[in-house]
Amino acid sequence: MNSRRAITFFSVIFVAIFAALIVWPRAAMTLQDQSKQKQQVPTIDEYQPKSTLVTKEHKIERAKFPFIDIHSHHWNPTPEEVDRLVKEMDTINLRVMVNLSGGTGEELKKTVAVMKGRYPDRFVVFANMSYDDLNAPGFGKRVAARLEQDVRNGAQGLKIFKNFGMDLKYAGGERVHVDDPEFDAVFEKCAELKIPVLIHVAEPSAFFDPWDYHNERWEELKEFPGRARPPAKYPPFETLMTERNHLFAKHPKTNFIAAHLGFHGNDLERLGKLFDANPNVYVDIAAVLAELGRQPYSAHDFLVKYQDRVLMGKDIYEVNEYKWYFRALETRDEYFEYYRKRHAFWRIYGFQVPDEVLKKVYYKNALKLLPGIDAKAFPE
Ligand SMILES: [Zn+2]
Repeated sequence: MNSRRAITFFSVIFVAIFAALIVWPRAAMTLQDQSKQKQQVPTIDEYQPKSTLVTKEHKIERAKFPFIDIHSHHWNPTPEEVDRLVKEMDTINLRVMVNLSGGTGEELKKTVAVMKGRYPDRFVVFANMSYDDLNAPGFGKRVAARLEQDVRNGAQGLKIFKNFGMDLKYAGGERVHVDDPEFDAVFEKCAELKIPVLIHVAEPSAFFDPWDYHNERWEELKEFPGRARPPAKYPPFETLMTERNHLFAKHPKTNFIAAHLGFHGNDLERLGKLFDANPNVYVDIAAVLAELGRQPYSAHDFLVKYQDRVLMGKDIYEVNEYKWYFRALETRDEYFEYYRKRHAFWRIYGFQVPDEVLKKVYYKNALKLLPGIDAKAFPE
């Protein structure tokens, strides 16, 4: 080996060793990282991927038009709470709040006094049924009479809670069916008094399904196992829907607002059929915005087609959460996070409806259904 060949030979060896020294630890680390990642598969709660999507965002803090929240709950509020409420409502353009939790009798009178009594054009109070005397004969007629008195005392609607049809039972153990004839007198009285009935029947259908890895409300049922509706304790979802639809059909002069899109937010075609069959049926969108937001094209077309039948509502009152409703209804923003993860592990999309539709959802449909709200506070 002459000296020049030797220099070339050792240079090559040197470069090779040098390169190996640099690359080898990195390769080793990468492999180590990979195996570490493989060992640590994140749980469903741990996996919180940050979206890298860059797209237009509109933060809408205030509704484009004044609106009526048809679905809110305020039990026995104090004057201070009501004062604070009005201040908060003003910040988001919430013109009229409907308190569905008015109770009946003296409780209702008090709630009306503290809300409507002090802010006559800002609140509406709905009455509720008392089931204390459910087992005494003539119950339905007594409820109707109490309701008539509640309306004289300022109630403007009847709210029926979800225990009706599910947990409410006669002394003998028989479940009160949603279309139980005992209550016919109550619904006929609502038609006579021209007040709407806002009724919550059943729950999301997933709550009636097995709590397994295919259930899309798995997280919520883990957090609140009591929300599950197993067949051993509850009637099937479809039984409740059948009873409810029978109720709607047998009181065509009574206006019903089925809460939470009637739990058909995941099947808008089915909801459309319910509307087609029953001109006296309306829905609110309270707490089911994620259902619309995951199908923006269908939601948009549905709202345009059934613009006279859908009402704005929020359910659990939290002033900072309304902006999701504004953003979904008023913009075409894409793939944004929802405010309540247990309702939706998915992101939602805006389905921007035309102003005329927006006005109907925000207030015109509610004005039509609710007696005694001053329409002059709202645009044409
Ligand atoms: Zn509610």
